[in-house]
Amino acid sequence: LQARLVMSDRLASLGTLGAGVAHEINNPLAYMLVNLHLIHGGLERLRPAVSSGTVEQLQQIARETTEGAERIASIVQDLKVFARGEQETRLGPVDVSRSVELACKMADNLVRHRARLVTEFEPVAMVEASESRLCQVFLNLLLNAAQAIPEGEPADKHLITVRIRAQAPDQVVVRVEDTGVGMTPEVLARVFDPFFTTKPVGEGTGLGLSICHGIVESMGGTISAESEPGRGSSFRVVLRTVAGRAEDVTRPIALLPARVP
Ligand code: ADP
Ligand code: MG
Repeated sequence: LQARLVMSDRLASLGTLGAGVAHEINNPLAYMLVNLHLIHGGLERLRPAVSSGTVEQLQQIARETTEGAERIASIVQDLKVFARGEQETRLGPVDVSRSVELACKMADNLVRHRARLVTEFEPVAMVEASESRLCQVFLNLLLNAAQAIPEGEPADKHLITVRIRAQAPDQVVVRVEDTGVGMTPEVLARVFDPFFTTKPVGEGTGLGLSICHGIVESMGGTISAESEPGRGSSFRVVLRTVAGRAEDVTRPIALLPARVP
């Protein structure tokens, strides 16, 4: 328990820092992107005067710089979600399987190319949550699962399984399993650390699972992971259920942008 308290504390102060940094970075980043766009267009108009090879070279540089800036924008977006942490927002009874289904739809693009997706849902479990944030948890888990399957292997060789089971009278367990590369004990021990990533620069921010951790903890739930190198990984989210029926949830689904690398 001691260790867990320390961990939550550290996550909370990182969150505050993250929110400040994200806010400060966003404005200059926005005008950088606008200016890059203007530069790219302006170069076009130099064509008659300057050799077209030079124009293209400079436009290529502008494009690459834009990609870098967009990459920063997406990291800042992750930071903002991570930082939003506890303070958030409108909670209500949310149907877990609906959140999972929505996440599956958003991850479909990437998942489909890497594995077969198998879902096993037990009857409706309602939890007190913000639907978009709960969905974000499952989306992060699904994207990680898909990314753990080596590119180029036939998709029918691999499985990503999502199971929703009732447990005890007032708990629901969601498991996301994959048959990907798995994790060594050293990696496994650090997966929920903010900014811990084993992915190449530009592919991972290392914030996905710490965001999941923050969201699940703020709901009074737990998230844990098991893995075996070479065989795959399994993430387990346990949530407290509340009384309520699926029909109570009539709010439209707030779609998060699916960021599929
Ligand atoms: P990111 O995906 O940006 O690297 P995450 O917080 O989502 O950040 O994950 C942190 C790290 O945990 C990953 O870089 C990877 O090493 C490991 N990891 C997470 N999920 C899985 C998985 N399903 N299979 C193997 N490794 C995983
Ligand atoms: Mg991730």
